[in-house]
Amino acid sequence: MEILVTGGAGYIGCHTCLELLQAGYDLVVVDNLSNSKQASLARVERLTGKSLTFYPIDLLDKAALSSVFARHTITAVIHFAGLKSVNESVAVPLLYYQNNLTGTINLCQVMQQHNVKNLVFSSSATVYGEPASLPITEDFPRSAVNPYGRTKLIIEDILMDLHHADAAWNIILLRYFNPVGAHTSGQIGEDPNGIPNNLMPFITQVAVGRLPELAVFGNDYHTPDGTAVRDYIHVVDLAQGHLAALAKLAQQPGAAIYNLGTGRGYSVLEVIHAFEQATGQKIPYRQAPRRPGDVASVYADASKAFQEMGWRAQKGISEMCRDAWNWQSHNPNGY
Ligand code: NAD
Ligand code: UDP
Repeated sequence: MEILVTGGAGYIGCHTCLELLQAGYDLVVVDNLSNSKQASLARVERLTGKSLTFYPIDLLDKAALSSVFARHTITAVIHFAGLKSVNESVAVPLLYYQNNLTGTINLCQVMQQHNVKNLVFSSSATVYGEPASLPITEDFPRSAVNPYGRTKLIIEDILMDLHHADAAWNIILLRYFNPVGAHTSGQIGEDPNGIPNNLMPFITQVAVGRLPELAVFGNDYHTPDGTAVRDYIHVVDLAQGHLAALAKLAQQPGAAIYNLGTGRGYSVLEVIHAFEQATGQKIPYRQAPRRPGDVASVYADASKAFQEMGWRAQKGISEMCRDAWNWQSHNPNGY
């Protein structure tokens, strides 16, 4: 009885592996290490005192993937593996469609061959595009403004079609809002390649001296202080959401969709101030033009996940900032 975690060496994946191991699950991890290092998993093993089985396999290699299913008794799959940079997806859309769509189709075909029909998929709040109102519930209309977002939208549709074709499939789509922070140990965390695109790793790299200052994208949004509002969620809360989803899968829910957010939005300036307060680090910043494709405000109605899975986020913005800084300050250059 093992859980397969695709993309388990990545940021959210390794935090989820840690929580799963601590909860007593046996894990098989598949990751091609295109955006991660195996060191994350070594640290997870050290932190938990437990081991997992790792295969450095690409989801595009269907035969290799199939051999993993042949070797293990897998009961459910948590599917994190995918490319996630919005900018890169605009520059090289075919790479994103091939990796994310073909990778997912291969995975589902191999699961079907081995009669494994329990899946948790990492979707994103990006599928809501510019929401007509707030907070966002799961039944809001979806749209995509870039190829990355479109891969999430298409994969959601593929997985829903799969469930409709064969009701034996149990599929949970988790729509993450903005994952930030790190495990409290400071041993695992977010380690982006190159200059970070996302706000929190940018802030921590400014704080640690790798970057000179933060550019705040836009100050003329329709928000209380003019900067854009997002629903930041602590990555450990998010990881625990996957344990709730696995428990839900055991009840054979068919297909289900849940927002994983806190339900509370923070502006960019609020995040900067929260970080300064939580860590005592000053963050130099300057106002910059809006970033193309950004929307003013996004935050979740996270009540469905609580009502149906008993999960809700526990950690607030100061813990997110403190833990992000704890990771970055102990690992200034990542893993
Ligand atoms: P990440 O890049 O840290 O992790 C993804 C992992 O998948 C990496 O370890 C990468 O090496 C692996 N991978 C990519 N393509 C693969 C392939 N073809 N075969 C095998 N392994 C492959 O990203 P993350 O932040 O941990 O995100 C995990 C998932 O959650 C992704 O699907 C992402 O799109 C989704 N998501 C992330 C965020 C976020 O802000 N971090 C928000 C919403 C949704
Ligand atoms: N942001 C910013 N400066 C940066 C990176 C991000 O002002 O260097 C803003 C961005 O415009 C958005 C918010 O911070 O309003 C969160 O951005 P991020 O890329 O982390 O997540 P997104 O919500 O875009 O997926």
